[in-house]
Amino acid sequence: MGKVAIVTGGTRGIGAAIARALKEAGHTVVANYAGNDAAAEAFREETGIPVFKWDVSSYESCEAGIQAVEAAHGPVEILVNNAGITRDAMFHKMTPAQWSDVINTNLNGLFNMTRPLWDGMRARKYGRIINISSINGQKGQAGQVNYSASKAGDIGFTKALAQEGARVGITVNAICPGYIGTEMVRAIDEGVLKERILPQIPVGRLGEPEEIARCVVFLASDDAGYITGSTLTVNGGQYFH
Ligand code: NDP
Repeated sequence: MGKVAIVTGGTRGIGAAIARALKEAGHTVVANYAGNDAAAEAFREETGIPVFKWDVSSYESCEAGIQAVEAAHGPVEILVNNAGITRDAMFHKMTPAQWSDVINTNLNGLFNMTRPLWDGMRARKYGRIINISSINGQKGQAGQVNYSASKAGDIGFTKALAQEGARVGITVNAICPGYIGTEMVRAIDEGVLKERILPQIPVGRLGEPEEIARCVVFLASDDAGYITGSTLTVNGGQYFH
């Protein structure tokens, strides 16, 4: 039976593919976004998926946003914490703002979104929480100390919360994508992509957003009820954790 799902950062890139796939799987999906109204509106028109604007780095905004979603659609049973940003710099040049922007969105965002939904999921004894981490949270990446720390934090969050949710029917899992062909990655210079990035990927190509989305659909399904606390690595063989 279809459930109510929120996908944060669900209007572009990987999140948009996840929102579409969850809808195709029969769920009632809403997509959250931060500020790109034009992209959100285009996505809403194309897919019919309602869009809600709030900043996942603010606890109060998440509480209010979730309240609005639940008032319109009913209790949320599937949460996909996908919203994420990069503010890359070598550590000797990294500013406190670059550090805290990334931690506030990529790591605190998980707390801010999950905490307001947790009591309801516990009371109903059902929930599916899927956190989109990154290969760089597993292996670390020069120039991304902030991002790598936030994404490694997402994995720790997943493992600890899974233990708390297990007895009350809530699963919590993480997915670690490698290079996925979103706008951001496709904007990389063709030469850099061919000569430096693709040779690191054993399958020899970028991943597609839909390949992450299909993993989310599975982890959100009743079939995945025995999977919790896991980290699903989806990177074309680039790194084994
Ligand atoms: P995009 O930049 O294409 O899209 C990001 C989405 O997140 C947008 O919808 C954006 O909203 C939203 N967002 C950003 N900040 C906030 C915020 N503070 N509050 C609410 N929404 C926010 O990202 P990708 O699709 O490339 O990445 C999605 C996730 O996958 C991220 O967590 C990323 O770290 C992770 N990932 C991506 C990889 C890749 O190769 N692309 C590899 C590994 C992990 P708006 O449109 O309004 O800006």
